[in-house]
Amino acid sequence: MNTAPTVQGWCPGALRPMTSGDGLVVRVRPRSARLTRKQALGLCILAKHHGIGLLDLTNRANLQIRGVSEQALEPLQQGLAEVGLLDETPEQEQRRNFLVAPDWTPGGDTDQIARGLLERLHDLPELPAKVGFAIDAGVAPILSDDSADFRIERGTSGRLLLRADGRPYGMPLESVDAAVSALVRLAHWFADSGGNESRRMRHHQMPLPGWFTASETAAPARAPLKPGSHMLGLIAGLPFGQIEAEALLQVLKASPAKGLRLTPWRCLLLEGVNSLPALPGREFPAFLTEPDDPLLRVQACAGAPRCSQATVATRSLAARLAPRVKGTLHVSGCAKGCACPSATETCLTGRDGQYDLAFQAQAGDPPQRSALTEAEVLKFFGDA
Ligand code: SF4
Repeated sequence: MNTAPTVQGWCPGALRPMTSGDGLVVRVRPRSARLTRKQALGLCILAKHHGIGLLDLTNRANLQIRGVSEQALEPLQQGLAEVGLLDETPEQEQRRNFLVAPDWTPGGDTDQIARGLLERLHDLPELPAKVGFAIDAGVAPILSDDSADFRIERGTSGRLLLRADGRPYGMPLESVDAAVSALVRLAHWFADSGGNESRRMRHHQMPLPGWFTASETAAPARAPLKPGSHMLGLIAGLPFGQIEAEALLQVLKASPAKGLRLTPWRCLLLEGVNSLPALPGREFPAFLTEPDDPLLRVQACAGAPRCSQATVATRSLAARLAPRVKGTLHVSGCAKGCACPSATETCLTGRDGQYDLAFQAQAGDPPQRSALTEAEVLKFFGDA
């Protein structure tokens, strides 16, 4: 039995996929966090034909097609190109590391800045793989807790603001064009001042350049979007941040959805949709439409048998425990803890076919109870 987790060192793309326990992971980065209806339908069909039919929604609002074989990669990439979801080069794909506030409106500041930055992609310097841009110019920031290094957001005065992640003050900007230019300029300063060695902006201790007149803080943040009705449509949560391509396909076909907005919070926004059709016969729901659904508090990786490093099942147990466990819960197939890198109130870690139970802990932390069977875990939480 394999119990020693293997650490993978980089992020996958559509042109540079990563190997996982269930095959290649092909990550698609939709522009402006949106798929048109045609793109969404095409992506579902491609995931079914060329992968194992599962899509992950990442914390950078990208979609990953799981379980792609080496032979299927080329036809999959061709299919992605046909629906406008493939970059020309891996470098272009890498540079397009933008997190966009998903409730943007056409022609609004977020939309214009995202488009403007796309046009200036070739002007950006080479940056470390995880360095990214948050384009968050709605009425107030909504991406403040999400990973990014350069942030365009709304300042307390109502003006646009460029802020280096980790610094409290940003530079006010008078226009969307000025915002794009300043973003590109600050990215060059980061690269030229040794930022690539620091890896992330918040770790980069160099004083900001003289032209960067930081004088204003960001406006108070808005809460992230949650399942339920929205002025743009319906927000649906995805249990464990994953959806079966077939389930999404069924919903798209049965609804008037004009497009899909992707969020970094395990939710999709189906544009122009009021309700979802029933999808019966599942172990747990495909979509969560109540903002307080207990499954929203639960993290679980793919586990056994999908991941070769797992020795236990994860999601079926997590779904049963969700209503019985108070606070956050993480069920991890092994000590690597892919689904959640931080501590949760309750954490179960698979080891040699059994579970270690810990509280206020990350996967692999010293347990309070060890080597529990699934039945013992269920009994502990009152689900005998
Ligand atoms: S945490 Fe889960 S998905 Fe990650 S390697 Fe371990 S078993 Fe696999």
